[in-house]
Amino acid sequence: MPEMPEIQAHAERLTDAFGGTELTGFRPISFTVLKTFAPQPEEAVGHPFGPVGRRGKYLLLHGGPVTFVVHLMQGGRLRDDPKQTAKPRGGLARWTFADGRALLLTEPGHERRAGVWMVAGDPEGQDPLTGLGPEADQVTRDELAAIVGGQGRRLHGLLRNQGALAGIGRRLANEICHRARLSPFATANKLDGDEIDRLHAAIGACIAETLAEERTRDDLGSVKERTSAVHNRVGEPCPVCGDTIRTVSYRAYTVSYCPTCQTNGKVLADNTTSKFLK
Ligand SMILES: [Zn+2]
Repeated sequence: MPEMPEIQAHAERLTDAFGGTELTGFRPISFTVLKTFAPQPEEAVGHPFGPVGRRGKYLLLHGGPVTFVVHLMQGGRLRDDPKQTAKPRGGLARWTFADGRALLLTEPGHERRAGVWMVAGDPEGQDPLTGLGPEADQVTRDELAAIVGGQGRRLHGLLRNQGALAGIGRRLANEICHRARLSPFATANKLDGDEIDRLHAAIGACIAETLAEERTRDDLGSVKERTSAVHNRVGEPCPVCGDTIRTVSYRAYTVSYCPTCQTNGKVLADNTTSKFLK
């Protein structure tokens, strides 16, 4: 799933391409894509589109008095739609513009999990943004200490919890733990002051580096195209120390880590491949 830096760069590209263009229509193509009954999408018609903002992993498509809040989920994409066919493949919704262009929300396969919420006024504090924690790259060191100190869960899970910190997903959680030289399985509220310093610096650095890389792209691309130290690199050497990257797999995601850098050399049992733990 795209994370904060990918969504941010995507929002900037959408603003560059469509910002200021008069919106002439919004049409849901899949009847499940629009998650709200009010306000009506038509309230945005006739207003200049944009700028496109972001909160956590959500895109905020501003249109006059209302905002389309879009979550792309795993494979959703917002792209230029030159053909504007009646039933585009994977098409969920379409925005049309006064200059004849259109923007299409697509999602491959049959998942249909991406969604659009209509919000009037400031979207902050309204569904679906209620309960989101602060932007991960905006928290101060002391704010982070308070968030971490209130959580008895493991660090990797805390980082991915959007209610604690907004914007971090599976890849960044792996990369941040590695950069901070912390075990992804460390108990969050047992981190000491030095470890919180390292965690805070790692969050800022990993997000900034990914954003800089994303700003060089034309499209969202895939996670395999991103430069990672440990994520998706099982069996390869750690770029810091040369040890072999290990993983622990869960049903929905994989935790990747370097034993030398992060777990005092300890290799943790992979609970899906270890025959002893099945
Ligand atoms: Zn290492």
